[in-house]
Amino acid sequence: MKIICIGRNYAKHAEELNNPIPEEPVVFLKPDTALLLKKHPFFIPEHSNDVHHEIEVVVKINRLGKHIEPRFAHKYYNEIGLGIDFTARDVQAKCKEKGLPWEKAKAFDGSAAVSRFFSLDTLEKEINDVNFHLDINGKTVQTGHTANMLFSVDEIISHVSKYFTLKTGDLIFTGTPAGVGRVEREDLLELFLENERVFYFNVK
Ligand code: ZN
Repeated sequence: MKIICIGRNYAKHAEELNNPIPEEPVVFLKPDTALLLKKHPFFIPEHSNDVHHEIEVVVKINRLGKHIEPRFAHKYYNEIGLGIDFTARDVQAKCKEKGLPWEKAKAFDGSAAVSRFFSLDTLEKEINDVNFHLDINGKTVQTGHTANMLFSVDEIISHVSKYFTLKTGDLIFTGTPAGVGRVEREDLLELFLENERVFYFNVK
């Protein structure tokens, strides 16, 4: 499986990092070794002093597809979860400065924390009407609603499937809303989908 991530997909988050509003989805990948193992804490890697949390809706692909048109994209998923796209912001800043790829900042071990998945039918939700938020140590730090995505899930699937064949089990991180910030050792991260806590873990 592969993990496809979309950057700068919420206008207020692009603004908070002084990035331009993208004209097409900003795409990067994480390897499967980036997945944070279930019931494990997240360890801040030695190569960074400024790891940020980015809560994101994660879409699980459920069939093989390539060159998918936006109007058919909804047939390629029915489950969503929540994840944290951990980002070594200091490393990313250096990569950006030099025009280098982001993998060392974005794709390291444990950098993709993902909850269990829920079918949209069970949630009784449309993909464009999902509320989510992240609490750290009991305080809400990021709040998102999928209607505020610059590129909808269906547009993202259409776009990325021009470049990468999507396979069953692939995950798509759909971008983070504003409010990203640094995590510290001993922080407790709690992820909420429609006000229900679906995932939590500690930082070490
Ligand atoms: Zn992200």
